[in-house]
Amino acid sequence: MIAPQPFKYKCPKCGYSKIVKPKSDVIDLVEMLNICPKCKSEMERVELNILETIVVKLPL
Ligand SMILES: [Zn+2]
Repeated sequence: MIAPQPFKYKCPKCGYSKIVKPKSDVIDLVEMLNICPKCKSEMERVELNILETIVVKLPL
C-alpha cells in the first residue's frame, strides 16, 4: 500500500500555512480541515517544496 504524501494547506488571504502528514490511508478529519484558524478563509492545498519534503520526513 502506498503511503499518502504529505502536503500543505496555505491560506491565500493571510498567508497562514500548515503541513499535513497523513499517517495512513485513514483520513483524519481534523487534519483534513482546510479552514484557516486565523481568518476562517478556505485554504488551498499546495504541494510541499523540496526542503519541506525533507524536513517532513525527518524522524523526530
Ligand atoms: Zn487565513
